[in-house]
Amino acid sequence: MAAFAALAAVAAATNVTYHIAKPWANSTHMLDLRTNRTVEHFVSWSNGTHFTDQATNQTVKHFDCDVHQGKASAHFNQTLQNLHTEHKGSAGGARAAKSLVGKSKLSISVPLYIHIITKQSEAGTITQAMATAQAQEMNTAYNPYGISFQLQNTSITANDAWAVAAGSDMDALKQALRVGTYSDLNLYFHTDLSGGMLGTCTLPSQVQKGTPPALYYSDGCNINANTMPGGSMTGYNLGKTAVHETGHWLGLLHTFEGYACTGTGDSISDTPIESASTNGCPTNPWKNSCPTVAGNDPVHNFMDYSTDACYSKFTNGQVQRMSTMWTQYRAGM
Ligand SMILES: [Zn+2]
Repeated sequence: MAAFAALAAVAAATNVTYHIAKPWANSTHMLDLRTNRTVEHFVSWSNGTHFTDQATNQTVKHFDCDVHQGKASAHFNQTLQNLHTEHKGSAGGARAAKSLVGKSKLSISVPLYIHIITKQSEAGTITQAMATAQAQEMNTAYNPYGISFQLQNTSITANDAWAVAAGSDMDALKQALRVGTYSDLNLYFHTDLSGGMLGTCTLPSQVQKGTPPALYYSDGCNINANTMPGGSMTGYNLGKTAVHETGHWLGLLHTFEGYACTGTGDSISDTPIESASTNGCPTNPWKNSCPTVAGNDPVHNFMDYSTDACYSKFTNGQVQRMSTMWTQYRAGM
């Protein structure tokens, strides 16, 4: 980190353009490791894995979550296609916000199970109090939209392989720890989650009522435990990564899905189309990755890659989408 901070200071002071073999970045562009494409990074400094947060001047890791339509089931993607009636990004396309919130508030109550998984050497570092605070943070984010989470139980496990959850260990730990039905949210918090990810999650798909839970054991979200409230992850330790991942569990895609200024994006009409994920909280000037299309990027949206302090909202269209997906896939299972 010290090296990154030093490089950042140099870049900020001299505005130099420089190249790093791989990952690659200069003062305006970087290699996006998720897509292997060169994209504008909208931050003063980035090396492809870390960037300088203009709000705090700290060196911060790029959010990486790796949930996208290519990982969704055919059933989920067909549902999206059926729901998508307005072509995003088209000239004159309707973008009027729906008036769902405040008019007919949702009432979705989700039983929540939290699983803390540490290495043996880190046993005791992630606490029940952090799990309780995490559940409260979820409710702070979702309650204004009529969605609530009831923490049922917290399991705490010390297991070196499961703390990383690489390869078949991921399956093994979920088969051992997952509880409840397809209506129950299981959040796994790992001290050393593999792949450099802050988190990842499964999107909902078709499960027949009465299906044994053993057949959908993989359902749930895996999150770096250092993102919990009070955790050690710079830029992401207010518990908002779990809010983001749970958005996927409820059927939302990233606001930058497709990484393009044309096409269907996240298939929601009131999230401005966005061709690059957000780093930090670029509001001065406001990030606008699609300048030829109306609207700046939705940097405060929970389904972007912004830092925790920047996250503050879902759109009405996203809330409507979560309601539709909940009813179709998870309610009453
Ligand atoms: Zn995500």
